[in-house]
Order: sequence, then structure tokens, then C-alpha cells
Amino acid sequence: MNEIQMLDGTAMGVANIFCIGRNYAAHVRELGNREELEPVVFLKPRSALSPEGRPIQLPEWTDDVHYEAELLVLIGRGGKRIAKEKALDHVAGYGLGLDLTARDRQNEAKARGLPWTLSKGFDQSACLSRFIAAAELPEPNRCRFSLSINGQLRQSGRTELMLFDLGELIAYLSEKFTLSPGDLIFTGTPEGVGRLHPGDRLSLRLEDKLQAEFVVAGGTGGDA
Ligand code: MG
Repeated sequence: MNEIQMLDGTAMGVANIFCIGRNYAAHVRELGNREELEPVVFLKPRSALSPEGRPIQLPEWTDDVHYEAELLVLIGRGGKRIAKEKALDHVAGYGLGLDLTARDRQNEAKARGLPWTLSKGFDQSACLSRFIAAAELPEPNRCRFSLSINGQLRQSGRTELMLFDLGELIAYLSEKFTLSPGDLIFTGTPEGVGRLHPGDRLSLRLEDKLQAEFVVAGGTGGDA
């Protein structure tokens, strides 16, 4: 699965997967981190992609996989040194995703100064909704998204609370990396992250524009 499915039925291949960490102050605090002067960037491999509807198989080498609900940006027009004022013109669409994280392994990597690739890049660690065209979300820096698990609200995001807004993220990334059509950006998670359990049912929602459902395999319900 290396393609983004758009709600209008079209599809777009995924190129790079950029992820931003520590972009909401309350989430920075809940993990005991500090706010950064520049966006924290890491990558996931394309093999991590998993579409809506595919049961999430938790890896057997960790029992501490956390969910992180995030707004996703799909780049439609690439570029280098994109001005933040023009950055949203480069966006093809928006979606929602889960930046799944093996928190035990990430904490160990942080403590030892090692990379996050394993804790952030395993199979199915990048779960995706379908996407809406950019025009469907005219004010992406002022929108709301949420994650409910088993019917309970766990995360509620307001993009105006981002420490670096979408234009700043695209400008920053394009200064360091050449952006290409199909590049995907996980823009960071609000507070409320926590551990996933077998059988959990996750529901992501972006206002009244988009909804996506995921189930964690292996529950007692027997249908996962
Ligand atoms: Mg994240």
C-alpha cells in the first residue's frame, strides 16, 4: 500500500514520509520533553503505511505501542525553499493518521541518544485515512480533529495550537529537503496519547469532513 486514496476516488503515490514531533505544547509536557526552537523531524519508511480498514497487528517485540492521532498533509507540488506564505499552495490534500510508536523502545533510544527508526517505523506504524482535496479544508491552521477509542474520546486536536503551523512546517522541511509530489507530513500529536490494546476500535474524525476507523487485531471480540 504505497498510495493515498482520495475521497473523490483518485489516488496518489506516496514519496517520502516526514513526521514532526513535539508540535503541541501539552503533548510535549505529558512526555516530559521540552519545547524546541526548530521542528523535530523524523522519517518513516513507506513499508510502515497501512490504510484504513486493515487490522493493526501490534509487533511482538514491544507491549507498549502508543497511538498518536495527527493531521496529515499531502504535498501536491514539490519545491525547495518554499516561502511559508505560499506553502499551502503546495498542498494537494489533507488526511488523518496514527503515528504509532513503540514507546518503550523510543524511551530507551532517547536515553541512549540513538535513532527512533525502530520505535517509529515498524510495519503499520503509519496508519492512514482517506484524504480530502486541499480546497475542502480552506483553513487548515484552524481546524479540529479527534480520536476516540472504544467510544471514548482520547485526543482532541486544534491545529491553531501547533507550535509550528502548517506553513512553517512546509517552509522548514523544504529548506532542508527537496519536497516532491506525494510527500506526506505527519504534523504532530496533541495530548492524550496512550497504549493500544488488542481489540481496540479507533475512530478518527476531522470535523464533519472525514472519518476513519481502525481496529487492533487480536482482541477477544474475535472479529479482528
Ligand atoms: Mg507523532
